[in-house]
Amino acid sequence: MGARCYQTAAMVFEIVQVGDPVLRQAARPLDPAEIATPFIQELIVSMRMTMYDAPGVGLAAPQVGESLQLTVVEDDEEHLATISPLRRAETRRTPLPFTVLINPKLTPLGDETDEFFEGCLSLEGYSALVRRHRAVRVEALDGRGKPIKLDLEGWPARIVQHELDHLAGVLYVDRMDTRTFTTGENLGRWWKARPASEVRARLTP
Ligand code: ZN
Repeated sequence: MGARCYQTAAMVFEIVQVGDPVLRQAARPLDPAEIATPFIQELIVSMRMTMYDAPGVGLAAPQVGESLQLTVVEDDEEHLATISPLRRAETRRTPLPFTVLINPKLTPLGDETDEFFEGCLSLEGYSALVRRHRAVRVEALDGRGKPIKLDLEGWPARIVQHELDHLAGVLYVDRMDTRTFTTGENLGRWWKARPASEVRARLTP
């Protein structure tokens, strides 16, 4: 696996890349009794470390080769401080504290959607415009098996929709506007700060 050990059990995983069938399977729900097992508890710590190491704002268990309905998310203030206030406002990017979501269920709140460039640690080096619900409700079990309910809006809602897709074997490329697919380098060079309507106008004949 090429994993590096940081302590006895937890480790940084190699992130599975597109083409591996595990990314296309519907992940199995966890039995609540499994959550307290050392295997799951260590998996959560390792996924958190892998997410920080990448770095990324979310990671789903299939991305580390485990077809389980488990995901970790976090978008902290330290990371957000590197993004301009204007861009933060446009993308509705607000802090999302570290959260473990097990067996999550998603409900869209309202009809509004937003379209922004999105990438994935399992499709390293690429991005595309993806339309997502602006606000969602997530009901799940946390890392201790306790039921949680989160109402999220803006970028945190996008992060969670992306990660929950992974649990259903869905990747952003299934939802993207295909003509906007770009390398990360060209995203920075041409598209990053432009509104979706302008990007589409320049990429559609
Ligand atoms: Zn992803």
